Amino acid sequence: TTFSELGISKDLIKGLSEMNILEPSEVQSLSIPILLQQNTDFIGQAQTGTGKTAAFGLPLLQKIDAKKQAIQGLILAPTRELCQQIAKQLFKFTKYTDKIFIEAVYGGADMQVQIQRLQRPTHIVVATPGRLMDLIKREVIDISQVKYVVLDEADEMLSMGFKQDMHSILDFVPAERTIWLFSATMPDGIREIISKFLRNNAQKIE
Ligand code: AMP
Repeated sequence: TTFSELGISKDLIKGLSEMNILEPSEVQSLSIPILLQQNTDFIGQAQTGTGKTAAFGLPLLQKIDAKKQAIQGLILAPTRELCQQIAKQLFKFTKYTDKIFIEAVYGGADMQVQIQRLQRPTHIVVATPGRLMDLIKREVIDISQVKYVVLDEADEMLSMGFKQDMHSILDFVPAERTIWLFSATMPDGIREIISKFLRNNAQKIE
């Protein structure tokens, strides 16, 4: 299959080819059509290095309304490095699309600087759960328009002690949201999130 057959737009494909991403990986072939076509929750059991970022990133970018100045997508990831990597990849994908603004926020960095950045138009926020919850509590981030929540390396986030923050964030986002959960393993903490926050008809790929 090709990215075009999976439903990815020409503008995104142009950006992908410049990154030498020419053929979809397995996780991309399986995930992209589901994430693009259906607004159902999603569980992807996938390891790192399999092209997971594009598997959720491309459908997310395609679903964002660039004309609407509001945070529409939230991506949670366990570490600062991963947040930065995801934001960087997504930024590269959008080289030939309408401008989509992506901001990464994470712990261990100056909060005031992050708060200032969030004052600019932002469509997608990539965040570690602790810092995001902090920003939500301070009421310096508006997540009332969020439609898509991606949990990347969800099992790692649990291992790092982010369980409470993940639950709080998922409690806090609008009820009409779609959750895309990616995890290499499915421990009890993940099952708990699935049963508490995902709808029954969640699509699953392994
Ligand atoms: P990820 O698993 O998302 O961290 O991606 C791992 C690496 O593979 C990144 O450097 C991506 O740019 C690259 N990549 C992702 N998808 C593909 C693809 N379909 N073909 C070639 N490289 C890819």
